[in-house]
Amino acid sequence: MQTDVVIVGAGPAGLCLANALSGAGLSIVLVEQQSHAALREPAFDGREIAMTQKSVAFLKTLGVWERIEPHARSQLAGARIFNGSSPFALKIGHALSGHDELGWLVSNHLIRRAAFEAVEHLGAANAEIRVMASERVIDVDTDASGARVRLESGATIAAQLVVAADSRFSATRRMMGIAADMHDFGKSMLVCCMTHDMPHDHAAWEWFGHGQTLALLPMNPDPESGAYRSSVVVTLEARDIERLSKLDDVDFNREIERRFERRLGTMSLRTTRHVYPLVSVYPKRFVAKRFATVGDAAVGMHPVTAHGFNFGLVGIEMLSRSICDAHAARLDIAGDALLARYEQKHRHETRPLYLITRFITEVYTRDSLPARIARDAMLRIGEKLTPFKRAVAMSLAGR
Ligand SMILES: Cc1cc2nc3c(=O)[nH]c(=O)nc-3n(C[C@H](O)[C@H](O)[C@H](O)COP(=O)(O)OP(=O)(O)OC[C@H]3O[C@@H](n4cnc5c(N)ncnc54)[C@H](O)[C@@H]3O)c2cc1C
Repeated sequence: MQTDVVIVGAGPAGLCLANALSGAGLSIVLVEQQSHAALREPAFDGREIAMTQKSVAFLKTLGVWERIEPHARSQLAGARIFNGSSPFALKIGHALSGHDELGWLVSNHLIRRAAFEAVEHLGAANAEIRVMASERVIDVDTDASGARVRLESGATIAAQLVVAADSRFSATRRMMGIAADMHDFGKSMLVCCMTHDMPHDHAAWEWFGHGQTLALLPMNPDPESGAYRSSVVVTLEARDIERLSKLDDVDFNREIERRFERRLGTMSLRTTRHVYPLVSVYPKRFVAKRFATVGDAAVGMHPVTAHGFNFGLVGIEMLSRSICDAHAARLDIAGDALLARYEQKHRHETRPLYLITRFITEVYTRDSLPARIARDAMLRIGEKLTPFKRAVAMSLAGR
C-alpha cells in the first residue's frame, strides 16, 4: 500500500492531526491497535482535560468542538492554589486572561469520540483518510527516498512521512532510535468524578497538602441529581493509590472527604476510578529522516499544569500547516528543513513549561518544614503580584 502520510496511533493527537491534514489533497493512513468499535465509542478513562482558549479555537477549525455536546463542556472560570491545611488560596480569575473563562474542561473519551467522528465524516466525504483499526505497527524504517511501516498483520505501507502519535512511551519513536529523558515521579494519580455538597464556582483547585497532592476540576452539575460535580485527582505514592483504588465506594467517599478536609462537604463517587503512574517524557529529538512525533509521543507532560493535550494541539497546528503549505507548493512534505523547523519551534514552545512543571512538582511536594513555609510565602507573595497572576492566567488560556 502507498500513501503520503502514515499516522501511528488514533488517540486524540493522531485523530486531530488526520483532521488537520485533510482537505489538502494528501492521502493519509491512520494505524491504530484498538478496534473500530473502541474508537467509535471510547471508554471513560477518568481524565478531564482542561483546554485553553487557543486549543478550543483550533478544535473548532477541525470540526471537533461542535461534536462535543454543550452540556459535556464545563467552563473553567478560575484556579485556586492551596498549601497545607491553610484556607488561604492564590486565586487566578478569568478576567486576567481577557476572556469570559480561562478555558474548558471536557472528558478525554469525549474528545476522542468527537475527533474520530470528524475523521469518519471526512473519510466518507473524500476518501483521503483511511483508518486501519486493530492493527499494530511493529517496524518503521526511513531513508531519503521514503518510509516503510510494517504492521503485525504482515502488511507494509510505503509513505513519504511517518508521524508517531502513539503515546509518551512511543514504540515507534524507539524504533527510529530516538532516545528520551524520562522522569518517574515515583507517584501515581487516581482520577474519578464525584458529586459534593459545596459549590466549586467553576474554579479548579490545586492543593499541595502534606504527603498528598489534590486537584479538583469543576464539571457541570450531575445530569441525574443536579448535584455539584467535579473530577477529583489524588496524587500519592503508588502503594497508597493502589489501596485507595480498591476501597469499597463508601470507604472511598469517606477517605476523600477526609483528605479534602470536608471543604466540599459530603462527597460521592459517580464513576469508575482510574490510576496513572506519573512519568514525564521529553525526547532528545522530535524528528528524524521522514519522521516526526506529535502529542504525548513528542512531549509527555506531568498533568499538574494541564498542558499535555494543549501542547499536542500546538504541535499539530504547526506541523500540519507546514506539511499542507509544502504540498501546495509541490515541495517535499517531509523535507529535512521543514521537519527541523517544526522541531525547533515545538521545542521553543514546550521546553520552558516542561522544566517549570518539573520544578513546581519537586518544590511543591517536599514536606519538610522550611519547604512548607517557603511555599506558603510564595503563594502569599504571588497573590499580590498581579503581573505574575496575569501571566499564569494567560498561560492557562493559551496565549
Ligand atoms: C490524569 C491525566 C490528566 C490530564 N489532564 C490534562 C489536562 O487537563 N490538559 C491537557 O492538556 N492534558 C491533560 N492530560 C494529558 C492528555 O491526556 C494527553 O496529552 C493526551 O491524551 C495524549 O494523547 P495522544 O493521542 O498523544 O496519546 P494517547 O492518548 O496515549 O494515544 C496513543 C494511541 O496510540 C495507539 N498506539 C500505541 N502504540 C501503537 C502501535 N504500535 N500501533 C498502533 N497504535 C498504537 C494507542 O492504542 C492509543 O490509541 C492529562 C493526562 C492524564 C494522565
